[in-house]
Amino acid sequence: MGTQTHISRPTALITGIGGQDGSYLSEFLLEKGYRVVGTIPDHNPANIDRIRHILDMIEVAEDDLFDQEHIESIFRKYRPSEVYNFAANSVLSASFHQPILATMVLAMGVTRLLEAIRKITPEARFFQASSSEIFGKPREVPQSETTPFHPRNPYGVSKVYGHLMAITYRENHGLYACSGILFNHESPRRSPEFVTRKITRAAARIRMGLERELRLGNLDSRRDWGFAGDYVRAMWLMLQQDQPGDFVLATGETHSVRDLCEEAFSHVGLDYRDFVAQESESFRPPETAQLVGNPTKARELLGWEPRVHFRELVRMMVDADLEEIRRTR
Ligand code: NAP
Repeated sequence: MGTQTHISRPTALITGIGGQDGSYLSEFLLEKGYRVVGTIPDHNPANIDRIRHILDMIEVAEDDLFDQEHIESIFRKYRPSEVYNFAANSVLSASFHQPILATMVLAMGVTRLLEAIRKITPEARFFQASSSEIFGKPREVPQSETTPFHPRNPYGVSKVYGHLMAITYRENHGLYACSGILFNHESPRRSPEFVTRKITRAAARIRMGLERELRLGNLDSRRDWGFAGDYVRAMWLMLQQDQPGDFVLATGETHSVRDLCEEAFSHVGLDYRDFVAQESESFRPPETAQLVGNPTKARELLGWEPRVHFRELVRMMVDADLEEIRRTR
């Protein structure tokens, strides 16, 4: 691709481009004519499965979010006009085992990126992937942009830091910096450690005779689950406004793990009750207040609505898992 083409195209830099959201956002931005540059962690440069199909259309740099000079060299080289910060180990239980690493990546990584923007490309627009985990044990239901923070794990605490740092650079340095308070969003590219994918994969594998049962924790836990493809569209919309701001991105509806099992197994012609066992040792006490987002601000100011609803999402994931089994058999 020649330099002249780059001059006329907006450039987006995506940290953690190899993850679920990085891959969907890349596809979305390529369709809009962006030059897409992404970073993947230097601890795992081989992890490009989700972006393999677009590798010849994007540029990928190895990333060291602990090295300020390295980050700034990426900004000097590509001069992005939009920056989306997704880099994370998003399995939040891992943050209990490695709280220092979680803080370095999820919290300090944000400051490093904002510093690079402030020094090198102050006109660039910044999206921070904040999380519903900042509400942890929520003080109100549903949660909105004004709900007090009450995180309950190192992941959530670090996300609060990143969230507040984006606001700090917006207010003190005049940067166009926004936080999207993301409630759970899923897809066929969701990592199998998450309960949604665990269930859709198991339904497909049991249907194909590869497994016999699925052991889960509390089937009555409820979550606000949306489709990742819808959420990346909202992230982009957030960076196209006249003024920067923070937005809850959520469906506003909850479904139980049991609903998910029912939907996934019935899609392959099975009754989940014959295959799903509830494990008492991984049973957590019932949640007293629900994590469920109020997306009114996004609806009113961004004109955003989720297009893929729960049933369609679950079916899409099961179909993709069936397809993967057929392909690799
Ligand atoms: P994901 O699939 O886990 O993607 C995160 C990416 O960041 C992975 O490719 C990971 O690479 C990479 N990464 C990890 N450590 C890194 C480091 N030190 N430097 C650079 N990259 C690093 O997560 P996602 O679902 O796309 O989520 C995107 C963002 O939204 C994350 O910040 C997440 O915390 C946030 N979020 C997501 C949800 C959700 O429901 N999906 C909800 C709330 C917030 P490796 O896998 O190779 O380590």
